[in-house]
Amino acid sequence: MTEFIATIGLEVHVQLKTRSKMFCACAVEYGAEPNTNVCPVCLGMPGALPVMNAEALQLTALAGIMLGCEIGPVCKFDRKNYFYPDMPKNYQISQYDQPFCLGGHVPLHDLAYPKDAQKSIATPDKKVRLVRIHLEEDVAKSFHMETATGIDFNRAGTPLLEIVGEPDIASPEEAFAYLTVLQQVMIYGGISDADMEKGQLRCDVNVSVRPVGTEKFGTKIEVKNLNSISGVRRALAYEIPRQIEVLRSGGTLQQETRRWDDARGETSLMRIKESAHDYRYFPDPDLLPVKTRDLVAAASSRKPELPWEKRARFVSDFGVSDYDAAVLANDLDLASYFESAARAAKKPKNVANWILNDLQSALSSTGALIRECPVPPAALDELVNLIDNGTINSKQGKEVFAEMFSSGKAAATIVQEKGLKQESDAGAIEAFVDQAIEAHPGPVADYKAGKTSALNFLKGQVMKLSKGKANPALAGEILEKKLT
Ligand code: ADP
Ligand code: MG
Ligand code: ZN
Repeated sequence: MTEFIATIGLEVHVQLKTRSKMFCACAVEYGAEPNTNVCPVCLGMPGALPVMNAEALQLTALAGIMLGCEIGPVCKFDRKNYFYPDMPKNYQISQYDQPFCLGGHVPLHDLAYPKDAQKSIATPDKKVRLVRIHLEEDVAKSFHMETATGIDFNRAGTPLLEIVGEPDIASPEEAFAYLTVLQQVMIYGGISDADMEKGQLRCDVNVSVRPVGTEKFGTKIEVKNLNSISGVRRALAYEIPRQIEVLRSGGTLQQETRRWDDARGETSLMRIKESAHDYRYFPDPDLLPVKTRDLVAAASSRKPELPWEKRARFVSDFGVSDYDAAVLANDLDLASYFESAARAAKKPKNVANWILNDLQSALSSTGALIRECPVPPAALDELVNLIDNGTINSKQGKEVFAEMFSSGKAAATIVQEKGLKQESDAGAIEAFVDQAIEAHPGPVADYKAGKTSALNFLKGQVMKLSKGKANPALAGEILEKKLT
């Protein structure tokens, strides 16, 4: 049976995080009363003149810099002509042959893949190349009701990036990773909040299949209406086998646009592409070409550390594992919490463990954000120090942490109040060890006969006798000494 491979290329639209629209002063505001943020420019009234939003231009340059694109000395805006009810000018201001950014790439990393796929990554450290990034205005939003359609022009004219990827993606999981990284870059740069549920990041998926060993790409089918990254993965996981099945059963595929139905978990035909659209692009006579030099300089000065740079730095500066660094850098607030704790910590790796385990689970059980964490970074450092220097053991540490989280008290105060100090006095521990040996001759005999696991049982008894206060390492040492 012929084997097939898939080819995937994504076109991603990202809403820029600006206060005002692309060519007028109307506010960009999510969830505002429909048709309240409008003016003659964004309503497409004849004679109204567009004025470029400098911040949108700078954010586009920033996106290009962060993704390693080439930015030419001049870019320009063109009119893309077509008729649609949500676009009253009958053209969209976009960029055609001189887009803002060319080339660039999105570097995938293990943790960006879906959890269940992280162990079987086909091409680790893959880089997906970009074709271009251009800046355009968004159109209005249609609301289809039972018997009528309403149009909200609040979105019309808001600044939108289009990020076009090369068809370098080979699986639904890679598409998932690509979008995850792209989303993270947008958030890191403050370019967009990139929330797919809010439509701030939208994605059209192009996918084709071809027999293994052949060069020519198969017929490209476009899938629309995707509103989550996992939806993109599922749509591809449905669409690829569907296309292969058609070809295997002797059928042919035609260029078409399909709709993803998330609830049913399948794609269905929307329309057939009979011919390429002729948008009759031409330079917008109301907008002069843009010299990019100053914009690039301004954007460079606000370029943040990139997610992959942050991960590498966490590993080299703080000695955390690649995996922990990736989890910490996944969220900017979490990363900055870790960083302020780690900078002052004696053992940053131990601080990372506390953040990734106890702190994260306490936060998720209360539904709080890291920004609202009742335990500030310095207070966590103090707790970790008390454990590292043997004042309390790690089990006591958990008890202290829970109390810190609920009361906001300092670790040292809680240790004092609860009388939690770890017992590190050898004489005191020896007494508990003697009691444990006396009370459990069976396990003692087992241990002497070579059953090493019996030691753990005895150690547990010592801990119990000490009411959890004994220094566990010391208890183990003394036990071993007594038994040999
Ligand atoms: P169109 O002119 O139809 O918009 P483009 O060549 O501009 O097509 O490509 C649009 C998107 O489709 C790009 O992201 C590209 O990577 C992807 N693409 C192009 N050809 C294929 C193909 N044969 N299979 C899958 N994706 C493709
Ligand atoms: Mg296209
Ligand atoms: Zn306006």
